[in-house]
Amino acid sequence: MSILKQKQTSPSEQCIATTCPYCGVGCGIDVNVAQGRAVKLEGSVDHPANFGRLCVKGTNLLATNDHSGRLLHPVVDGEQASWPKAITTVADKFNQIIKQHGPEAVAFYVSGQLLTEDYYVANKLIKGYIGSANIDTNSRLCMSAAVAGYKRAFGEDLVPCSYEDLEQTELLILTGSNAAWTHPVLFQRIERAKRLNPLMKVVVVDPRRTASAELADLHLAIEAGTDTALYHGLLHYLESHDGIDHQYVSAHTNNFAACLASAAPWTVAVTATFCGVSESMLTAFYQAFLQAPSAISFYCMGINQSSAGADKCNAIINAHLATGKIGKPGSGPFSITGQPNAMGGREVGGLANMLAAHLDIEDSEHRALVQSFWQSPTIAKKPGYKAVDLFDKIASGQVKAVWIMATNPVVSMPNRAKIEQALKQCEFVVVSDCAQSNDTLSFADVKLPATSWSEKDGTVTNSERRISRQRGMLEAPGQAKHDWQIICELAQAMGHEQGFDFSHPGEIFDEHARLTAFKNNGSRALDLSGLVDLGRAGYDKLKPVQWPVNQANPNGCQQVLANGHYYTQNAKANFIALQPSLPKLSTSLDYPLVLNTGRMRDQWHSMTRTGKTHVLAAHSAQPEVTMHPATAEKLAIESGDMVRVTSATGQISVQANVSTDVSKRQVFVPIHWSKQFASSASVALLFDSIVDSVSGQPELKSSPVSCEKIEIEQYALIHSPTDIDALATQLPQGCHWVKYQGESSVIYSIKCEEEQADLISKVKALLNQALDQHFAVNFDQDSASQAAEPGGSAMDNVWLTYANATSSQLSALRDNRFVALAFFSAKALVIDESWVNEILQQAQTSDEQINAVLHSKVKQNRGRKICSCFCVYEKDIIDAITLEGVDSVEGLGNQLKCGSNCGSCKSELSSMLREHLVEANAAEHFAGHSAGHSAGQSEQVLDYSLAKEVAA
Ligand code: SF4
Repeated sequence: MSILKQKQTSPSEQCIATTCPYCGVGCGIDVNVAQGRAVKLEGSVDHPANFGRLCVKGTNLLATNDHSGRLLHPVVDGEQASWPKAITTVADKFNQIIKQHGPEAVAFYVSGQLLTEDYYVANKLIKGYIGSANIDTNSRLCMSAAVAGYKRAFGEDLVPCSYEDLEQTELLILTGSNAAWTHPVLFQRIERAKRLNPLMKVVVVDPRRTASAELADLHLAIEAGTDTALYHGLLHYLESHDGIDHQYVSAHTNNFAACLASAAPWTVAVTATFCGVSESMLTAFYQAFLQAPSAISFYCMGINQSSAGADKCNAIINAHLATGKIGKPGSGPFSITGQPNAMGGREVGGLANMLAAHLDIEDSEHRALVQSFWQSPTIAKKPGYKAVDLFDKIASGQVKAVWIMATNPVVSMPNRAKIEQALKQCEFVVVSDCAQSNDTLSFADVKLPATSWSEKDGTVTNSERRISRQRGMLEAPGQAKHDWQIICELAQAMGHEQGFDFSHPGEIFDEHARLTAFKNNGSRALDLSGLVDLGRAGYDKLKPVQWPVNQANPNGCQQVLANGHYYTQNAKANFIALQPSLPKLSTSLDYPLVLNTGRMRDQWHSMTRTGKTHVLAAHSAQPEVTMHPATAEKLAIESGDMVRVTSATGQISVQANVSTDVSKRQVFVPIHWSKQFASSASVALLFDSIVDSVSGQPELKSSPVSCEKIEIEQYALIHSPTDIDALATQLPQGCHWVKYQGESSVIYSIKCEEEQADLISKVKALLNQALDQHFAVNFDQDSASQAAEPGGSAMDNVWLTYANATSSQLSALRDNRFVALAFFSAKALVIDESWVNEILQQAQTSDEQINAVLHSKVKQNRGRKICSCFCVYEKDIIDAITLEGVDSVEGLGNQLKCGSNCGSCKSELSSMLREHLVEANAAEHFAGHSAGHSAGQSEQVLDYSLAKEVAA
């Protein structure tokens, strides 16, 4: 493990500068480590991505960094195994399959959360030593359309902008991006820039009214998938209004006439109809672009995750090339990656259709260049299978062995049922992960324990081409190893001793930097020649730097296209002629609504990390389908009802959230919930395997669905000190469950379509088992527990049940303390968590005290937690607005502190002000006003004043 001592904070603490492992902003983080533990975390004030800021996810990293749920040793065929046994098993099986069926029969499926060094050796092994290009990544699902767009236009995968441009622009177009929630620190920078420059205009293009739209001067709620037409219409408008920079076009571009001709039919009237917006709104946007001296199109998954993703990217790039709004401060097409190291993976060729160092796999000279640099026995001769295609080939048996690293494709790939089937029938599945269980690990023949964020050591590249060090600061738990180490050990066990004898990630980085410089001579922008030969000390001290880093740019480069030089054959950028299209699947009588998907503010991917802390769970604990009030009314659905969402490929069951944020034709479901957290909320079930023919990126923003209300007959809410693993498999059909982390318990919410006479006894049995296991483990592991648990694992759970005609409560006590509570009712249960926490934290000495606690009144539900930093709930904020007249975000911050730390909730505060100030101004008395949708449903206020039924 390599630790850089940045500064001493106290004699016993080291401060280590590292990088956040979540989104593509790539914020710098300072972590204080004492006695082998991370004890404090804050944003690095000198990191150019965030200058000290962090969002709520980054702020709470340490709360998710414990060893619970970690995979701590290799597992082969379900049995714990040694590393040599695991590596030999994988190497022998891969070699046998390659020998029998050729190199195309094996594959790696990797992740934008790997570090660049991990990615580099994985790509080197499969392309240069196995001889197959079957390596693809979850970044295919995130930004491969952006890569294809850049390559078609610029000749290289080259993001031309920097974060500083966001603060310098006069017009910022957020298109297909809810940056307020997905890239919060960038959004904070944008908010500040707008405050400092009132002339700066923000346009949000999104079918949904998102939190980001709160900042917008103009929100264009276009129909799903019509972005190409929007930008093609812009090109036509610019041409008709003398908005073309002919000098730039003629000096620096190709194919303008053909592109312009393809845009000719897209008049304002035609485009407005196609996109579903008014001509006046559209014209306002076009005029803003025409008149602004600088403009940035900031785009993300809403553009990329489409069957026409690459075309959408090129439509955006076309408009910037035509106006010369590119390669200068405050201007350019700026794609933002969702993942922390999606760009690092691209740099080292971690996709099936590229080679390392931005070289082209379909170019024989490039293949020869890479092979000669590596001195490798072979080189892949053609592109491998892209993600969706890869799992199809696994399903058909053409790919017989797959190694999945640091990703959860069962949750993230479209058509979950197909992915599950593919992995089930695959001859050999290896999964390396830091988590002990996830939806993909259940298909693994071999599980390999990998290190996690605080242990990993290497580099990542963020969305502005900035390479930063992620520094290992804690020892790996159990037998976990770094991904690069596992890959190198496997390579050597497969017989490739040369080429994988690295002893430190710095050596891998050095080789990567050398390859970018090898025979480059200015032919590729990705040139890290200035970072060659850093040595261990130089690598450890590496400061965040934007590539290229070379003789011309020894300190990195901010404006990489400033001189108008592109990386095509004639060094000019290509306009791409386009034909706008709609999403491949259209709505029908059976599936009349369009499903849109996205992220929630406080969660990350499949929640294996962010799901660990109640601070992050509190913002949106349950998976929901958001639908317009008119849609809901038609379907007799109210907020809080259970809804079945069905597409041609599958169905999910989630709670309704009725809101005008979506149009009448759309519904929205977040992406995060896997089978680890909910019985049936995996949105991947609802998408077919439809991809962009240019980039291979799946269409994950549009799928036709239907919705119907599910009648619920029985509700249960369980507070347990531990996971109840068996619950997932032992609840009857028709009982839907969601799990989330509460402040002092794991909470299960259960909703059954039919009344289950034995639900209480079933829950009691499952809880009993889970409690016994939990306390036995704690007794064994923790001597402090022995004091609290004199009986240790032998101690019995004491059970109490209270019931009246419609509801029941089950409580478990150990040593006169409440350890678990479960509530059952025929009506929706809304129970104040803080009341439950009080009970769980109290020691009881007598039956009277137990009764007193259980009979205490259920407090009013305070709704969702809006500000995670200062624990400010929806109801408190609504009260401040409507009862106390607070009328600004700053005012709410002064009064309640919400929004005054990380700022992630500021846009929601604006939205709440917009909604509730109207009520306040109308002088409506607030009495009886509900605290948000969850508090608005019919509540069961529990009455336990009846009989105490069971006491043992
Ligand atoms: Fe991490 Fe938040 Fe920064 Fe993204 S914006 S890198 S999640 S702290």
